[in-house]
Amino acid sequence: MAEKANGEVILIVEDNEKNMKLTRDILQFHGFATVEATTGEDGVALTREKHPALVLMDIQLPGIDGVTALERIRQDASTSRIPIVAMTASVMKEDRERFDKAGFDGFITKPIDVRAFPGQVRDAIARGRA
Ligand code: MN
Repeated sequence: MAEKANGEVILIVEDNEKNMKLTRDILQFHGFATVEATTGEDGVALTREKHPALVLMDIQLPGIDGVTALERIRQDASTSRIPIVAMTASVMKEDRERFDKAGFDGFITKPIDVRAFPGQVRDAIARGRA
C-alpha cells in the first residue's frame, strides 16, 4: 500500500475545484505527477501534448463533456491507446452502460474513496498496458 509511483503522469480533467484539489493531493502524495485541465477541450489538448499514463475524466464539464472528449482522444492515432477512466457521481446502470459503450476503460465513483483511489489508479494503468 505504501508503494510509490515513479512520477507517472496522470491527467486530471475536472471542473470542480475541490474535487481537483483532492484528486491531485492524493496522487502527488502517492508519487504520481499530475497535469490538470478544467475543460474537455483542454483535456484533449493536454493528452496530445503530455501523453499521460492515464486520464481521469470527469463527465460533466463546461463545453464538450467527458464522453465527447474521450471520443476525440480515441479518434487521434497518437492518443487512442491512452487509458481513460470516467470519474462520475452517477451510480445509475444506464449511465454506466453509456460510459462503457463510449469506450472508457473503467470508472471511479465520486466522491472518491481516499484509501482505495491510489490502487484504482494503479490498476487502471496496469490494465491499459496489458
Ligand atoms: Mn464536473
